Amino acid sequence: PTPKAPTYDSVKSQKPQVIGSHSGQRVNATFVTLARNSDLWDMVKSIRTVEDRFNHNYNYDWVFLNDEEFDDEFKKLTTALVSGKTHYGVIPEEHWSYPEWIDQDKAKEARQEMDRKKIIYGGSESYRHMCRYESGFFFRHPLMMNFEYYWRVEPSIELYCDVDSDPFRFMKENNKKYSFVISLYEYAATIPTLWDSVKKFTGSHPEHISEGNAMEFISNDGGETYNNCHFWSNFEIGSLEWLRSDAYIDYFTTLDKDGGFFYERWGDAPVHSIAASMMLKKEEIHFWDDIAYYHVPFTHCPSDEKKRLDLRCSCQPKDNFDWKDYSCTKHWFDITKTEKPNGWDTKYD
Ligand code: GDP
Ligand code: MN
Repeated sequence: PTPKAPTYDSVKSQKPQVIGSHSGQRVNATFVTLARNSDLWDMVKSIRTVEDRFNHNYNYDWVFLNDEEFDDEFKKLTTALVSGKTHYGVIPEEHWSYPEWIDQDKAKEARQEMDRKKIIYGGSESYRHMCRYESGFFFRHPLMMNFEYYWRVEPSIELYCDVDSDPFRFMKENNKKYSFVISLYEYAATIPTLWDSVKKFTGSHPEHISEGNAMEFISNDGGETYNNCHFWSNFEIGSLEWLRSDAYIDYFTTLDKDGGFFYERWGDAPVHSIAASMMLKKEEIHFWDDIAYYHVPFTHCPSDEKKRLDLRCSCQPKDNFDWKDYSCTKHWFDITKTEKPNGWDTKYD
């Protein structure tokens, strides 16, 4: 007789408990992924890379969120691969739909216009719901409420070096609230009025603007205009408590009322980055040189050869995006007056 194919329930109940060498030292944190069922095979690759380079030693939980129910195949495979506990959540309808103040005809025209102009994802409705969800809601999903820190992981990413100490613990012990590996300039056509909305917020909520913030990262003229620099949000390790703070919620609410998630195509990357740069102290934002990362089409690979060898990296330094023209990371080093790593000025051809 042919043996019965495993189900999600059988995989879950028979999952062997492999306790990582550092699992006793965990902080209250989780991986989080927003994905569709059709993202399964790309997600499997991301989980393997995260487990192999880091999480097999720690067994952190992993929360998966979706605007539909995850199917059994998705749950079975991801549960088998993640060394920690897995959680699967459906997004409440009101967090993935049009608020009543949005004119849906106007939104549709905006999509058609951006599609004609060949703006990336310009014609997509679901992409807009996704960006709004990542901007304002994922951190308040019931499954996220018990955690203090999150690490966002998207399908088809790569980690190219060992992560040999715990980034979550680093965040907590050093009072970091937001962190990034890649930064770059946003495509201006997706955010024509974002900065107007931001200024409306700073005008009505000056109490949320922090002293010693990183405003210089996002504006070259003291806040008059946006220079389009942002942290690339497909990778983030951050504080959920910060995102759940009154300051951040007031900010998101102001932006959301102006409708640019639908009438334009505001990305969660500039939305998070502007918030972090205005509302946190510079020192509360961290750049990870040690976490070598790829999400199409950019790579962060440590410039310092000793670091690449120590961390058993498999990336090529010539692919590192940090010091290229379209990256904002050099600007980040300048405004934080940080010394650049060894090898940053090596030329590759
Ligand atoms: P890109 O990185 O900007 O090209 O956008 P992605 O296609 O990678 O989408 C960003 C994240 O949102 C990924 O984790 C996707 O899996 C997820 N995502 C995008 N669109 C949807 C959607 O319609 N539904 C769900 N559940 N997840 C989505
Ligand atoms: Mn992506």
